[in-house]
Amino acid sequence: MKITDIQTAVVQGNYDWTYIRVYTDEGIVGLGESFFAPGLTSIIRQLSTVLIGEDARDISRLFKRMQRASSGAGSVAGIVYNAISGIDAALWDALGKYLKTPVYQLLGGKQRDRVKAYADCHAGREWPPYYDSVLQGGMVKWALEHAPSAQEEAEIYTPEAYAKRARQAVEKGFRALKFDLDVPNPYQEEADSRRISKAEAAFMAELATSAVEAAGPDVEVGFDMHWRYDFASALRIAQMLEPLNLAWLEDPVPPEASNALKDISAATRTPISTGENLYLVEGFLPLLESRAVRIVSPDLQKVGGLYEGMRIASMADAYLIGFAPHNISSPIGTIASAHVCAAARNFVALEFHGQDVPFWDELALLPDRKQVIVDGYIPVSDTPGIGVELNEDVARRYAKPGEPFFGEQIDEKMQATS
Ligand code: MG
Repeated sequence: MKITDIQTAVVQGNYDWTYIRVYTDEGIVGLGESFFAPGLTSIIRQLSTVLIGEDARDISRLFKRMQRASSGAGSVAGIVYNAISGIDAALWDALGKYLKTPVYQLLGGKQRDRVKAYADCHAGREWPPYYDSVLQGGMVKWALEHAPSAQEEAEIYTPEAYAKRARQAVEKGFRALKFDLDVPNPYQEEADSRRISKAEAAFMAELATSAVEAAGPDVEVGFDMHWRYDFASALRIAQMLEPLNLAWLEDPVPPEASNALKDISAATRTPISTGENLYLVEGFLPLLESRAVRIVSPDLQKVGGLYEGMRIASMADAYLIGFAPHNISSPIGTIASAHVCAAARNFVALEFHGQDVPFWDELALLPDRKQVIVDGYIPVSDTPGIGVELNEDVARRYAKPGEPFFGEQIDEKMQATS
């Protein structure tokens, strides 16, 4: 099965969802998704030159080929891996279609019939419909224009708002949730400080308690701190939250200080997690060997691909460390990740980051259902490959201006009227 062409398309959801199609001489087309990055589709086009003419079934060999092509001796991190990850997923999709087998089967077979999704709830805020504005300038511009005022912030980041948001997600069927704790609040003594004051810590504990209590005793809840804090502050929060029996506390200290995670983990029974900024098995090995975290959260559209994700899961399993992939992708990347989650022995939960994107489900064409996530779980289906195709009518409507749509130029005027 020779690779004949590779094409990309970018859809503007809450991020630039970047799709890769790998075309073959068997007529089989593999579909994958990459984590967004500046210049990403240009990197994918460059990488395609070392893939065209190769056998699409030799995924591991092609991975090494792309790795070596990205630097003299092969790079070990950075956005080239976002590109490689999406191409890797598309190759797995093509291989599964060729063998008429779902990808999880090729990764060792399924451990479960459905994959638990956790709903990312941000903070106590539902993002307003924004896609029209996004089309007029991109997500960053939109986010700046819609940044809440100080008055709005005081209303958004409250224990009541967190509780409401938790109840809404549980009503949708989710059995696991995640909230942000590093939100603007009146107790911050200094902007951008790594320090959490005593009063701010009490406020964070109040937000967390409210969300956990509203979620109820059967629903797992984790919190993300986005790498913002110093050692003492991170430890203070991790210890204060111990009575809440959290699923995990994510990224309490800066990514460049991941050595601090070991000491934090040793001093608290709150499980600490990290991983969305790391690449390859080698990026995770030091954390596993030192037992710096209780849960790893690689992003499978970024870390090096589905096979690399499976290797990380297996390696973590040998250390009895859980596997809860980070995920901000559309249904294509989410379902691709779900194959690894179905096969991983130490799977905990897979992120779903699209609660507030109204067309998230519409982008997916599934042979057996309309909703990607059913009652908080992604069903593991028998469809060959990754088992989802892109709804091109919907994708075209939100396609990023200036980016090719699988080789086609999108007419913005037609897009506006469709
Ligand atoms: Mg995070």
